[in-house]
Amino acid sequence: MNHLKEIDPEIAELISQETTRQRDKIRLIPSENYVTNAVLEATGSVLTNKYSEGYAKKRYYEGQQLIDQIELLAIRRAKALFGSEGANVQPYSGSPANLAVYFAFCRPGDPIMGLALDHGGHLTHGWGVSITGDFFTPIRYELHPETHLIDYDMVRDLARKHKPKVIVAGATAYPRIIDFEAFASVAAEVGAVFCVDMAHIAGLVAGGAHPSPVPRADVVTTTTHKSLRGPRGGMILMKKKHRKAIKKAVFPGLQGGPHNHTTAAIAVALKEAATDEFKAYAHKIVENAKHLAASLNEKGFNLVSGGTDNHLVLVDVTKLGTTGKPFAQALDKAGIVCNYNTVPFDPRPPMDPSGVRLGTPAVTSRGFGKPEIEQLAGWMAQVATHIDDEAKLARVAEEVKELCAGFPAPGMPVE
Ligand SMILES: *Cc1c(COP(=O)(O)O)cnc(C)c1O
Repeated sequence: MNHLKEIDPEIAELISQETTRQRDKIRLIPSENYVTNAVLEATGSVLTNKYSEGYAKKRYYEGQQLIDQIELLAIRRAKALFGSEGANVQPYSGSPANLAVYFAFCRPGDPIMGLALDHGGHLTHGWGVSITGDFFTPIRYELHPETHLIDYDMVRDLARKHKPKVIVAGATAYPRIIDFEAFASVAAEVGAVFCVDMAHIAGLVAGGAHPSPVPRADVVTTTTHKSLRGPRGGMILMKKKHRKAIKKAVFPGLQGGPHNHTTAAIAVALKEAATDEFKAYAHKIVENAKHLAASLNEKGFNLVSGGTDNHLVLVDVTKLGTTGKPFAQALDKAGIVCNYNTVPFDPRPPMDPSGVRLGTPAVTSRGFGKPEIEQLAGWMAQVATHIDDEAKLARVAEEVKELCAGFPAPGMPVE
């Protein structure tokens, strides 16, 4: 980053420090990852200089000889990887991708149905503070109070009662496999468009470590930067009959020019995700999450739904005499980064809920396996009983740094 250092030493220094942070800490936020150098290079390329409103062969600006090829390649790879009939790679991120789906199939005020935020759904599934809950009429299903699994009876009853235009399945904090069949049959019964938001699990789906929603869903939205390990961006996969509606909704409905540097980096990530190496990576993510769940269980942590089938673990920490926020803050001081999170039917406020959310995509990218995961669970148990012991937390951070040095992450400069 020699040019950056010369032109803007302040930003260069901050990026350098962030690089060190990502290198030296154990990153457990389930929506984060380490992209490869190939993805970073495409993201940082001259494609950022080009305007390309429209779609391949139908642009509003000239000079698209190469951009068209890049976008078509990304689309081809997305369709091949996920086995979908159509793909739109222009959404700026996951939130605009979801908004495009609602815009394609709903008018203002129409009912849309999704998992409640405080039960693991995303803001854009109709939560009140989001435009999706304000401009449309949100119908929210929840988890079952005992099993903490999606309450499929509630999904069916609410759908029959409210006849939503779109039913969304997908979550940000749900550690179990989602029954896409069950959702699809409800959507078919009430005539709703069935949308799966696979943002968190796209990499698992690509690698065959989670059932694919593509055969059953009308449309599938996703981010490209979570377990899929691409640049920050979004995609929509769809059945052929919905291709036009989605196309129109993304551009000109919602967006202007596509981010071509991101499109190219998405194409690179999709190529990487089609390899056997990535398949192994996806399965290792789940294996690591299961080990993490089992190890934490052994140490007295209380897991929502008892464990995990995917890349994330939701932990209720109140049994250990702490709460989500102080625990997450103490973990950060100890070099372990996660986010505090509500647990289903949480009696505590969202700013200091009962739980933390942990995910294994990033640590799996740097090569962690069973021994490192067990070590990690041990540190977490130590932190839980030493929340205010600064010296102890600093000692753990040193040990974490030492372990991380042996597991260089993709995309990190080698010293
Ligand atoms: C992350 C996420 C999104 C939003 O993606 P952004 O890129 O942050 O806009 C949408 N839906 C789900 C389920 C997510 O996990």
